[in-house]
Amino acid sequence: MKSNALNFSGGPGALPETVLAQTRDAIVALPDTGMSVLGMSHRSEWFSAVLEDAEMNLRHLLGISNDYAITFLQGGSSLLFATIPMNFAARGAAPPEYVTSGYWSAKATIEAAKVTKRNIAWDGKATGYTQLPDLRTLDIAPSAAYLHYVSNETVEGLQFPACGTGEIAAPLVADMSSDFLSKPIRTDAYSMIYAHAQKNLGPAGVTVAIIERAWLDRIPDGLPAILDFRTHVLHSSNYNTPPVFAIYVLMLVTRWLRFDVGGLQAMQRINESKSKRLYATLDALGDAVTIHADPRWRSQMNVSFTFGDKRLDQAFISAARDEGIVGLEGHRSVGGLRASLYNAVTEDAVDLLCSVLNEFTVQHV
Ligand SMILES: *Cc1c(COP(=O)(O)O)cnc(C)c1O
Repeated sequence: MKSNALNFSGGPGALPETVLAQTRDAIVALPDTGMSVLGMSHRSEWFSAVLEDAEMNLRHLLGISNDYAITFLQGGSSLLFATIPMNFAARGAAPPEYVTSGYWSAKATIEAAKVTKRNIAWDGKATGYTQLPDLRTLDIAPSAAYLHYVSNETVEGLQFPACGTGEIAAPLVADMSSDFLSKPIRTDAYSMIYAHAQKNLGPAGVTVAIIERAWLDRIPDGLPAILDFRTHVLHSSNYNTPPVFAIYVLMLVTRWLRFDVGGLQAMQRINESKSKRLYATLDALGDAVTIHADPRWRSQMNVSFTFGDKRLDQAFISAARDEGIVGLEGHRSVGGLRASLYNAVTEDAVDLLCSVLNEFTVQHV
């Protein structure tokens, strides 16, 4: 079989080769049931075991205590932009606070305003979303329903340092769609963490939500059941037909992280080494390229940059494709180039990208 191209796309992102091989086999027949995974019932014992396996691996990888529920939702992170304020902008609390630091957090901020009164705690638009605030220094009322932020701005390539427990006065809610499981985090610093699968953990169709159980009591009655997070916790992510295939692949990825990679500290070391190599290569190219992010906030997951000359951006995409590298087009909102270094992008693939960058620059700049 022809081998998989080296996928540097911002999403759907690269998946580990061993997971792809298991998935290929599972589409024909699962080893344990003899049936295609695509035909497996969501009410089967097999699927209950898959859900338990995925949840157990997530608890193990992130050290998530039983004070938190883990649930698998549909509708992507965009649906959560709407349902989080529906569930948690509780009556009686002060309005939720939103950090607007890039394309995705701006969407979350806009969607929240359709549901509730909300405050903007910080806005990076004036500086072109190249910087991030220190969350600890924001002026947030402790009575705010929550503070929402996006831990890694996928489009611009900006990443917050992880939060420590008790650093923020209000309950903390984070969209971690593009850096979830890339490094260890203090989950107990958050009241809710969410991340859809298609950047770093599997195919599109499923979104992981980790919610403090005590916080579920704040949810007002009267929401449509499908939009009420308690429904999905109560029904163990099996209220209506869940995306069995996406959850199965996500479970395989969590197994890969636990047993092949050896956990999130090991994953973090690999991710640090990949991003260091790419940024060092880009920095050494001097004026030939511009990196979007201010150096203090450079993301380990998404490296957004441009040659400045649009024709060179296009020419580089072609030169990289000739070496089997794909997915370098920048997001349609900012253009340029973006190399996404998700967990399944190997160090060898990054080395190849760096050498293609060096050769290309020698020839064209
Ligand atoms: C890609 C992305 C989204 C959009 O997610 P959908 O699942 O397509 O709705 C939201 N937040 C972040 C941080 C993203 O990177």
